[in-house]
Amino acid sequence: MTNSATKTQSTTKSPLIQGYEVVIGFETHAQLLTNSKIFSRASTHFGAEPNTQACAVDLALPGALPVMNRRAVECAIRLGLALGSHVANRSIFARKNYFYPDLPKGYQISQFEIPVVQGGEVSFFMGTTPKTVRLVRAHLEEDAGKSLHEDFIGMSGIDLNRAGTPLLEIVTEPDMRSSLEAVAYAKELHKIVTWIQVCDGNMQEGSFRCDANVSVRKPGEALGTRREIKNLNSFKFMQQAIDYEVRWQIEQLEEGRAIEQATVLFDPESGETRSMRTKEDAADYRYFPDPDLPPLIIAPEWIEEVRRSMPELPRAMADRFVSNYGLPAYDATTLTQSQQMASFFEATVRGCGQAKLVSNWLMGELSRKLNEENIEIEHCPVAPNQLAELITHIAAGEISNNSGKVLLDAIWSDPKDEISALIETKGLKQVNDSEALEKLIDEVLAANAENVAQFKAGKEKAFNALIGQAMKASKGQANPQQLTELLKKKLS
Ligand code: ADP
Ligand code: MG
Repeated sequence: MTNSATKTQSTTKSPLIQGYEVVIGFETHAQLLTNSKIFSRASTHFGAEPNTQACAVDLALPGALPVMNRRAVECAIRLGLALGSHVANRSIFARKNYFYPDLPKGYQISQFEIPVVQGGEVSFFMGTTPKTVRLVRAHLEEDAGKSLHEDFIGMSGIDLNRAGTPLLEIVTEPDMRSSLEAVAYAKELHKIVTWIQVCDGNMQEGSFRCDANVSVRKPGEALGTRREIKNLNSFKFMQQAIDYEVRWQIEQLEEGRAIEQATVLFDPESGETRSMRTKEDAADYRYFPDPDLPPLIIAPEWIEEVRRSMPELPRAMADRFVSNYGLPAYDATTLTQSQQMASFFEATVRGCGQAKLVSNWLMGELSRKLNEENIEIEHCPVAPNQLAELITHIAAGEISNNSGKVLLDAIWSDPKDEISALIETKGLKQVNDSEALEKLIDEVLAANAENVAQFKAGKEKAFNALIGQAMKASKGQANPQQLTELLKKKLS
């Protein structure tokens, strides 16, 4: 376990709600990107006809034996390395016993006492404030099947396609203090698991499911009793569910009722959480080591081999953007929200230098257009080399920033258009010709004698008014720097 207690305390004071402090811990199930199941060779492909992807092992037929999927273990190692955890060189699979129709074995294979990934942390920013959430563990386990409630015939069916799908359950310490922090944590973890390619992150399909454990307490008191909100599969519902749950718990306590430990479900329709069952204790599951599976041994050499195959992580990449390109930390963090955004940035900078201009364009105009049209950056109609060319023209003072936006619109709708040709045909070339500019300034000065007089009397604002007039007279195409210099010269 990492000892980051000091870091957790470095964050600002917890916000109180009606005098109560909110305490949240997360258990996240990340479905691993493997082709086959954790203990069998059946496919994990999503969306197949019910019960077409469950083999003897998944169906728990007598005598079928589980065999560990090497790729699932590799995913666990990758996650452990990404989160600064200890990757155990020996961990144990256990049987977690419970009855449910979608669990034919009558137990789930999971890890209990000795998980494969131990400790570690997830760090992110709340605005400009750093926040660290400590991890307890991440353990490998198999998913259960799914009950399909066919209301129209009044029956339920069982689909065992999902039975045996590999999961990593990632458990935090109760370190979060608001629904906003919880969502920020979940987003950061989601970014990391997709970045290192252990999970596709598809929340609709259930590849990344969060359980939020929520309690409230008066500051300084011991932890309150928690209720666990199950299977939150969107960031929006996550926040709504936690906010509702917090209000509900405070109301109970204020009315003199005790909170009972329970598992609850969030209903997006009503926006409420509802009790599903009172929570079992670990003892209820009668965990014991699975006699069918030997201890999971991970040699240090394997860990080193995986380490060498790891991509640069978002935090390291952001640091590099600051030191290599001289970007502000905010830009660097924003640009490393996804690998696609980061590589678009780097490809554009390779094409034109101008890191800060590229950053401004990516975070500003380009993101705005992508959002507007709901397009992911990997499907951006404008290629990095085109944006680089556009920025090159701006940096050289050939076109203004505003003309750049006009150009971006043009190549956005017709990406085959040549930028230099467009500059000509659209008449976007900035007037850099100082003779032409001087002539223009003379005209403006003659027409605005009052502003000139005001400026000479010491009114700085009058200067801006004159620049504005000159810009207008050039139809926005004067080079602003040059214009300012020439005007200063004329007036002095
Ligand atoms: P269990 O074994 O019953 O699942 P754990 O002790 O492993 O319980 O905790 C599960 C999750 O609940 C962890 O993420 C932990 O941080 C969180 N948690 C524990 N106690 C509290 C509490 N009082 N309030 C909020 N979250 C809590
Ligand atoms: Mg648990």
